[in-house]
Amino acid sequence: MLTKRIDLFTILGFRVGLDLSWFVIAVLVTWSLATGYFPGVLPGLGPQAAWWLGAAGALGLFVSILLHEFSHAIVARRFDIPIRNITLFIFGGVAEMEDEPPDARSEFFMAAAGPVMSFALAALFWGVASLAPSGLAGALFGYLALINLVLAVFNLVPAFPLDGGRIFRAAMWGWTGDYARATRIAAGLGRGFGAVLILLGVWNLVGGASFAGIWQALIGLFVISAAGSSEAHMTMRTGLEGLRVRDLMVRQPIAVPHDTPLERVVEDYFYRHRHTVFPVVRHGRFAGCIRIEDVGRVPPEARAGRTAQDVLPEESPATVPPGLPAMEALRVMQSRGTSRLMVVEDGTLRGVLTMRDVMAHLTIREELEGRGRPA
Ligand SMILES: [Zn+2]
Repeated sequence: MLTKRIDLFTILGFRVGLDLSWFVIAVLVTWSLATGYFPGVLPGLGPQAAWWLGAAGALGLFVSILLHEFSHAIVARRFDIPIRNITLFIFGGVAEMEDEPPDARSEFFMAAAGPVMSFALAALFWGVASLAPSGLAGALFGYLALINLVLAVFNLVPAFPLDGGRIFRAAMWGWTGDYARATRIAAGLGRGFGAVLILLGVWNLVGGASFAGIWQALIGLFVISAAGSSEAHMTMRTGLEGLRVRDLMVRQPIAVPHDTPLERVVEDYFYRHRHTVFPVVRHGRFAGCIRIEDVGRVPPEARAGRTAQDVLPEESPATVPPGLPAMEALRVMQSRGTSRLMVVEDGTLRGVLTMRDVMAHLTIREELEGRGRPA
């Protein structure tokens, strides 16, 4: 999910984009409105008018979801939770947070803002519909009132990661002070709700309502996987709480002196230690990273005449200071697309931090402390 993103525009500092999957829903919504909903509420509606109304309804849905996400994003910004961008995709929208909310209060207000906006829009469109002079406008705004009401109510189901699940988690978190337990329960409800949606989907499929059935099953799968990934995030966050890079890094990593001939690099480092990347040091200072593919590009007969320094890649590798919180280091790994960070302080290599080290720490912690906790 959220892979092929198209940037649309920037409003109030938020970058708004579409996931390619959104086009699927745009077409489906227009089609089902034009051939089902509007001819149903307006008997005698011509096909051309029906398609125009369908397209207008899909556009109104788009704007409604956008406003819902905007209200999340604006409240998040008030609480200093950075929002990178807002992306609309097949199941609605997401305001992509760079981090989970820091406390229960901010999560509560941030989560509640979306449904509040959808309720307000439902009331607004309902008012417009009842004042509308023509039947066409009345039907269009009536649909928008209805769909915003559905959005608000669906999002309030207390199943993580839906807004209602976040509100529920924030309330429990604030009440008990136990973030991990609140997340586990909210994610459990999310998985349960996802399973119910899948069952409902299968039931509809068997009953012949294949479109609705597939739809419900897909949303169910999505909810289950999102609940799982936010639980994994919680495990990381609590498992790494208070830890810094220096607590998890490998100290005194194997480093290659900058003037080592490549044939020695191959024999004494790559074959002997079986890593694919080594830090390179020059007179005790960190100089970069030598990667196996850079050495591989030099033909074997040319390797005697060249040194590690000669094949260092242009771009500087991802480095972090030893005092950085471990959670921040994970974020650097994610944004740089690497699972290995060089730990550098004042130009000196202090260690190497890999994703494997972090995961190993979490596994050990889970084994030692995860047992016997209240579910
Ligand atoms: Zn929402």
